[in-house]
Amino acid sequence: MSTSVLVINCGSSSIKYALVSERREDRIFGLAENLGSPEARIKGITTGGEALELSIPNADHEKALETILERLAHHNPQAIGHRVVHGGTLTKAELLTPEIIERIREATPLAPLHNPAHLVGIDATMRLFPHLPQIAVFDTAFHQTMPSHAYRYALPKFLYTMHNVRRYGFHGTSHAYVSERGSQLAGSFKQGGWLTAHLGNGSSTCAIWNGQSVDTSMGLTPLEGVVMGTRSGDVDPSIHSFLASNLGWDIYKIDKMLNSQSGLLGLSDLSNDMRTLIEAADEGNEDAALAIEVFCYRLAKSLAALSCGLPRIDGLFFTGGIGENSALIREKTLAYLPHFGFNLSKENNNALKRGTEGRIDAGTGPQIWVVPTDEEGRIAKETEHVVAALEHPTTKKSEPETEVA
Ligand code: AMP
Repeated sequence: MSTSVLVINCGSSSIKYALVSERREDRIFGLAENLGSPEARIKGITTGGEALELSIPNADHEKALETILERLAHHNPQAIGHRVVHGGTLTKAELLTPEIIERIREATPLAPLHNPAHLVGIDATMRLFPHLPQIAVFDTAFHQTMPSHAYRYALPKFLYTMHNVRRYGFHGTSHAYVSERGSQLAGSFKQGGWLTAHLGNGSSTCAIWNGQSVDTSMGLTPLEGVVMGTRSGDVDPSIHSFLASNLGWDIYKIDKMLNSQSGLLGLSDLSNDMRTLIEAADEGNEDAALAIEVFCYRLAKSLAALSCGLPRIDGLFFTGGIGENSALIREKTLAYLPHFGFNLSKENNNALKRGTEGRIDAGTGPQIWVVPTDEEGRIAKETEHVVAALEHPTTKKSEPETEVA
């Protein structure tokens, strides 16, 4: 019998879900949104591949999860895998026990927008499905292999020792999947030095040596690093005192500006959406063109900086909505990195179809690949791995591995 894992990603007013079967290609997925409001609804794809839209007025997380599960019950999921953004210093996926739930709660000050929403979802699924094993898979866990010289800030030591102020990194599930899958495609399974660029509405880069994260662009929070849809990425930290002293802004206003009004949106004064900006730039919008250029230049700078964590560079993987779909952004970014020997094949880059994996270098220099990410598949795999270890505690644990399709 084919087994399946229900993957759940709870936001403050939304729940993304995916039922991932052992044969990864059969997948049912959807999104419950506007939770807690009269417009609450579920949109998704059914088993038959048909579109689903269901109104669930005023439903909260628990009601939405109940509805989702009612529709999926006949698939008999064997476990639930929860995406959790911040796991503090937890290094791997964990069975949700009262102790692990407490660790997620303790990490809330480090992810105040995400962890409380995950806890609401966890609480609801624990009540609804007390007999199913429930596993937390953390965005931060993959980066726990970073050495201290990569994860420490040059700040007073007590902020680290007493208040956990350090770099954690995020998007770990995606960087882990893409680097593993990509290095398989490249024929160097988990060996060597690879850079990953996860470019979506949130974006980050990662340096991976022999399958382990050695540095990444995001830090204490997902604000650090490269330019994102609405997040600034790196800025001079004195921006806070500058804006407070000169414009009288308080810390909340500055935080909101840096997280929600900056990045591509702030630079272009038009949109956080890369497709919109590319179209606008084509039509002569100079702000949109500048936003694209800053995005690519800073991304290249980040990749160059992270390469310091690698003894050598075997290649680079692009992923995420922008990385997978935009030949232009890949070309512009690599144009800033000629001294690393990257040699893009424009033909292969432009010919790559949306959503497909493929190699896009010209055959010399480090390899360049596009690898569509699969965070749900990776969460399902890690969930299965934890469940298998619970069922067979004496079996030697090994890393979850990604099949070559
Ligand atoms: P994600 O957060 O991974 O879903 O990625 C969302 C981002 O991908 C948005 O900025 C989209 O505009 C961008 N994106 C999707 N398709 C394309 C495309 N064909 N060209 C450029 N950007 C794209």
